[in-house]
Amino acid sequence: MDELTRRYLAQQAELGGPEVILSGRRALEAPVPAEAATPAPQAAPNPPRGRLTAAGGPRWMVGAPPIPGPGLVITSPEAVLLGNDLHNLDSLEQVAERIRTTYCCALCPNRTNAVPGEGNPKARLVLVGEGPGATEDATGRPFVGQAGTLLDSILEAIDVPRSSVYITNIVKCRPPQNRKPLPDEMAACLPYLHRQLDLIRPRVILALGGTAGEALLGARKSLGELRGKVHTYNGIPLVVTYHPAALLRNPNWKKPTWDDVRIARQLLDR
Ligand code: URA
Repeated sequence: MDELTRRYLAQQAELGGPEVILSGRRALEAPVPAEAATPAPQAAPNPPRGRLTAAGGPRWMVGAPPIPGPGLVITSPEAVLLGNDLHNLDSLEQVAERIRTTYCCALCPNRTNAVPGEGNPKARLVLVGEGPGATEDATGRPFVGQAGTLLDSILEAIDVPRSSVYITNIVKCRPPQNRKPLPDEMAACLPYLHRQLDLIRPRVILALGGTAGEALLGARKSLGELRGKVHTYNGIPLVVTYHPAALLRNPNWKKPTWDDVRIARQLLDR
């Protein structure tokens, strides 16, 4: 079996895909470690053609669910941006510098590093998590711990290089003991995210976890209510799925996540 096939099958197993039998043997004998994340903002924003089936379609599309119907439609609160001078920051780097040099809530004084986000400024896909964990706080980079490794393999499975996307969080500083950010912490930090999305104008937003979905959509709804729909954030399709850290705790959620991610991937091509 060649290396590409081995890695593809490893991803399918990791994501809860169907078991594959080759020559009467389980094809997957050992998981292949995901590659380390590499921030390379110059990468081409268009997804590459990636791995194809014998019929010539992308492999990730095999068994993918159809794009679901519409969900919530929201416009980000303009007043929040106009209430401060974030609208004067013209680049993601300027926003990041503001985040690194400002205290906006009680989380900020306890950070080792703020984690503004990273990736391609022309990303077609933006991923939004909840908040930095210990490794992210130590490095100043989003999703570089265990959950990040899983996220990398999810992206690789849909032929979207990590270097082509932008990854950020609802709150930019680590909550103590990785607890869920409090409503006032999210409210204080959200204007940064709105500005980041305004500057990137991606084709699709993928919210990782209920907290990210609720905060972005300004809705108090469960993850179950938010999944399985294509919401609209400032005219941009937004899909909500499980947080990768939740998948590490409960592998049964990998299959529904794989479906959600493939919905987002199809929207990228639309
Ligand atoms: N979990 C998150 O929500 N964000 C990160 O950056 C890392 C883990």
